[in-house]
Amino acid sequence: MSLNQNLEQLSNAQGVTGRESEVRDLMIRLMTPYVDEIFVDKLENVIGIKKGKEKAARIMLAAHMDEVGLMVKTITKDGFLQFVKMGGIDDRILPAQSVRVFSKKAAFPGIIGSKPPHIQKEEERKKILASDELFIDVGAESKDDAKAMGIEIGDPVGFDIKYTPVGKGAAIGKAFDNRAGCAVMVEALKLLDRTDCAVYAVGTIQEEVGLRGAGTAAFKVDPDLAIALDVTIAGDVPGVREYDTTVKMGKGPAITITDSGLITHPKILRWLLETAEEEKIPFQTETGLMGSTDAARISLTRQGIPSGNISVPTRYIHSPAGVVSLSDMENSAKLTAAAIKRIGAYF
Ligand SMILES: [Zn+2]
Repeated sequence: MSLNQNLEQLSNAQGVTGRESEVRDLMIRLMTPYVDEIFVDKLENVIGIKKGKEKAARIMLAAHMDEVGLMVKTITKDGFLQFVKMGGIDDRILPAQSVRVFSKKAAFPGIIGSKPPHIQKEEERKKILASDELFIDVGAESKDDAKAMGIEIGDPVGFDIKYTPVGKGAAIGKAFDNRAGCAVMVEALKLLDRTDCAVYAVGTIQEEVGLRGAGTAAFKVDPDLAIALDVTIAGDVPGVREYDTTVKMGKGPAITITDSGLITHPKILRWLLETAEEEKIPFQTETGLMGSTDAARISLTRQGIPSGNISVPTRYIHSPAGVVSLSDMENSAKLTAAAIKRIGAYF
């Protein structure tokens, strides 16, 4: 399957933080042809292994499988679902969003409702509605009706946006944070033939609520070094200052120098930058970004694991839909594979 087809499947799959099974099953299917061994660990990270030579370095790749979303918190007597947010979502983007509520019986379409503007007071209209004032309408007529649909407290709720190619080699879709990284990881495995080093390709869980799966997976794998494959903010939209980020869509993968959880190990940075330059792969660098990735957690596991990030510039992350350039994804995979092939010169 092509990168584009993999991204489409991964983006349309459901995997709100803590409920990643559909994405995990898909990752198992997509990675299996390119690894020697694959297993699911106790917290349900998936780990694909490409065996290497005995004395060569062991590298861990980490792409988180979860996406930001919602979870049913209460069901009102009239059948409306109140919710909590799973991961960092801006309350301002929630009203009127189409969602799907994943009950044990079926996935129900719903809409995030709020009080109409016509009956809001002047002051109410100016204020941002907080997520605890919003609710999901799935057409249930009462609490019992919602329960009869199989809807329960704790059910995950995902945004309902279908993957759509747009423009010249770009795509709109949900959950590009981090299905783009998952697709890059599969593509990088595909580009790697035999390698001297052992590659542990890990689909991690619960990144969006604190980089949780990456920590336990890194402890288990105990690699010599690690790369998180994730997305980063593309700042090429109106209203973003160059100071905030210089990363743009279509200009190649972003190599992190620093973010709020990681100062990339100098050797890792040199390895990635020299690989990109020598292999003539377009790239960008970024510094001082708020937020972090699985690399932050992995780097502080055990006695410390030198780690870095290769990120796909993505517009509108942590909102219901994002935009990515497929060439950035291809180049992210190329950079990952090329770096792994050159690992012996550095580690
Ligand atoms: Zn992410």
